[in-house]
Amino acid sequence: MNKRQWTGLLKSFLNLFLKSNCPLCQRPAAREFCPYCHKQVQGFQLADPSRFWNSEQPVFVWGEYGGALKRAIAALKYDGNPQLAKPLGGWLAEAWLSFPELATDNLTVVPIPMHQEKLKERGFNQAELLAESFCELTGLPLQRHGLARVKNTQPLFALTAQQRQAEMENALILGKDFRRRLPRDRVLLVDDIYTSGITVKSATKILKQSGISVYGTVALATPKKINR
Ligand SMILES: [Zn+2]
Repeated sequence: MNKRQWTGLLKSFLNLFLKSNCPLCQRPAAREFCPYCHKQVQGFQLADPSRFWNSEQPVFVWGEYGGALKRAIAALKYDGNPQLAKPLGGWLAEAWLSFPELATDNLTVVPIPMHQEKLKERGFNQAELLAESFCELTGLPLQRHGLARVKNTQPLFALTAQQRQAEMENALILGKDFRRRLPRDRVLLVDDIYTSGITVKSATKILKQSGISVYGTVALATPKKINR
């Protein structure tokens, strides 16, 4: 064994013990979040994540977009912490599974897609990573490319309702997975933040045009004003 191989072996051995810091408080953490921040983020979980389900556009939301959950999502998306999608998507799945009246089988999970340019910039689509973790726990099949984003839309939160609608116009198309083969089951969409619902509305429209029905959406957080 030469020196380089030794160094490589030593590094991988040390990596077993050297845990990284919590991305929210920078304290050493054995898991994705330190125990303190874990609790802080969990504090933003909604008492009833199904409260927005019985609407024209059913959505199941894990938490309120504020405080530690908002910081966790920012750390995931903007500070390059894709590993945070694992616990966050897992919590979403746990909450989903605790509603057996909603959590049926025969669903195909599709993340809200990201434009190729943004994907190149960020390196990952957080909705896809959340969906991956969600599917790991729920056992539902994941179709990463059920939809595709062909327009690099600007962030919708800064726009008026009318501008949002215009911005999302022709932004999404059927993705390569569904162009190859349509799903037999209904689609469950996954997004990180559910705000105006315009993105989900556009996604639903595109899928419907191809004869695919949408069961609903699961999202990690919503800024909707609610009493937790
Ligand atoms: Zn922390």
